Amino acid sequence: MYRKPMATTNVIPYNSQHHSSVKTGIVKNLVRRAFTVCSTEEGLATELCNLKNILKRGNYPQYMLNDAISKEKSKVISGSTNNNKKEGEGTSENDLTRWGITYHPGIFEELARKLRSFGIQTVASQYKNLKTTLTSVKDPIPITQRKGVVYGLHCAQCEATYKGQTGQKLETRLYRHKLAERNGDGEHYPLVQHCKEKNHNIDWNQVDVLTTVTQQTKRCLVESMFIDRDQNTTNFHPGLKHSDGC
Ligand SMILES: [Zn+2]
Repeated sequence: MYRKPMATTNVIPYNSQHHSSVKTGIVKNLVRRAFTVCSTEEGLATELCNLKNILKRGNYPQYMLNDAISKEKSKVISGSTNNNKKEGEGTSENDLTRWGITYHPGIFEELARKLRSFGIQTVASQYKNLKTTLTSVKDPIPITQRKGVVYGLHCAQCEATYKGQTGQKLETRLYRHKLAERNGDGEHYPLVQHCKEKNHNIDWNQVDVLTTVTQQTKRCLVESMFIDRDQNTTNFHPGLKHSDGC
């Protein structure tokens, strides 16, 4: 199979922080391309040998390649084509809503499972990859100027945290937290309440932007997931179990 002289034949390493479906997809598509492009048995055998080396360099387990090859072979034997498959899949997937969500190990899988019960299919997307890093010519936006974020606040004296989300600039939201701290408004601001009770302070030097999600519904769900997983949360509603909306 012809490759351009500049082709690096590198693939995402198996131990990289990508969803497992991305890695399975890479192997599957490489094998499918080999079966589609190669017109002779010798050519196919050579290409599969190349794939074996490429995937070995990326630390992919051998069984992934073997599985993909067996599936592709069984497709050839049964005579099914990609076109036939797409038509069949298209009718069943027409009604599905598909959401792209930034991949966070552990959180994404849990969120995908819960969303599936609502008929929402999730696609893992990367927050940053090499391409976006290298081609970014703009100065990064300071975290306090970002909009549509899920953020985390911490107590300066203990492990207590608060997770929140906002569609406005984070700076605006933090201003409200600071105002509440100054006025001792613990009724609506749980971390302020915690600090009042324990005589602690909010650590304003440690404000985390956990993720950026533009759409409000998605953002609230992701916020709930973060709250759900936090053992030290002071949030009033404990995540998805008792989510009371946004
Ligand atoms: Zn504390």
